[in-house]
Amino acid sequence: MHATEEAISRLPKVDLHLHLDGAIRTQTILELGQKNNLSLPADDVEQLAEHVQVQPSCRSLTDFLACFEFFYPVLQYPESVERIAYELCEDLSQQGIIYAETRFAPVLLLDEGATQRDMVEAALRGLSRGCEEFDLPVRLILCAYRGTPAEKSLELVKLADEYQDQGIAGLDFAGDESRYETSEHKEALALAHECNLPLTVHAGEAGSVDNIREAVDLGADRIGHGVRLIDDPQLLQTVVEKQIPLELCLTSNLQTQAVSSIEEHPFPEFYRQGVKVTLNTDDPKISNTDLDFEYNLAARSFGFSIDQLKEISINGIDAAFVDDSMKNKLLAKVD
Ligand SMILES: [Zn+2]
Repeated sequence: MHATEEAISRLPKVDLHLHLDGAIRTQTILELGQKNNLSLPADDVEQLAEHVQVQPSCRSLTDFLACFEFFYPVLQYPESVERIAYELCEDLSQQGIIYAETRFAPVLLLDEGATQRDMVEAALRGLSRGCEEFDLPVRLILCAYRGTPAEKSLELVKLADEYQDQGIAGLDFAGDESRYETSEHKEALALAHECNLPLTVHAGEAGSVDNIREAVDLGADRIGHGVRLIDDPQLLQTVVEKQIPLELCLTSNLQTQAVSSIEEHPFPEFYRQGVKVTLNTDDPKISNTDLDFEYNLAARSFGFSIDQLKEISINGIDAAFVDDSMKNKLLAKVD
């Protein structure tokens, strides 16, 4: 029998693929818009939600990303970033989550004159305050962004290294994988490697399995999404042998049409073949989901039992960018 909702809500879980900007409350978008005199497509929460949350008509990653365009102007201020980081801790603390890694791309938030450093420090301030107040460890992954200047990525890696002991968990490469190659940011990647910064790479979501191969070759410690790994059985075996975890996000994959239906999602096949799969939310507020919903979706659609979901939660802990003593603390909460 598949796991019940109640058992899932009691299961301690971790979220490793969670975009800070995609976790913003609609109410907060509204308030930040008013505070900074920015025009938004609506002036009450319900109507604004129709613009900034994914609608059933969403048919592609492009449609999905259009939701972000409406509110990106409100994020261009360090105080905004600090606030959403803090509020994320509060939201996560109400969901039975025992650890999370949130991520954002500072390079996309420089329109109003802030620097990447301003934004990184703001996010860390918000997280540090939130973690303490809501008694939940939440670390930050910095996203370098494909399609932006390589020197910005290099600067970001230096910042990640500088703050590695102060809340930075690792580095991610995000941005349009169908148009740009991660290897364009060679220097940043080399430095990240030199500084022992854990690396995850968005690959094989909207783009092809070749991007996953590139990520593996670049030494990625985890793969963001990796849905298209199903297209290359040999690479899949490599990913199993190297025990490279996949950060899968079911609702997001459905909304961006990375898969056309939940029945076609390769998640259960990955699991069967021994890939270290994890369940995550991606952009919970934009997608109108949370981690319980994702676990329930997996239980309902793929017939996972509570023991199998527990195994998936443990995969998440194993895959977390934390040291062994922290992993053991987290594991003790699940067992
Ligand atoms: Zn993502």
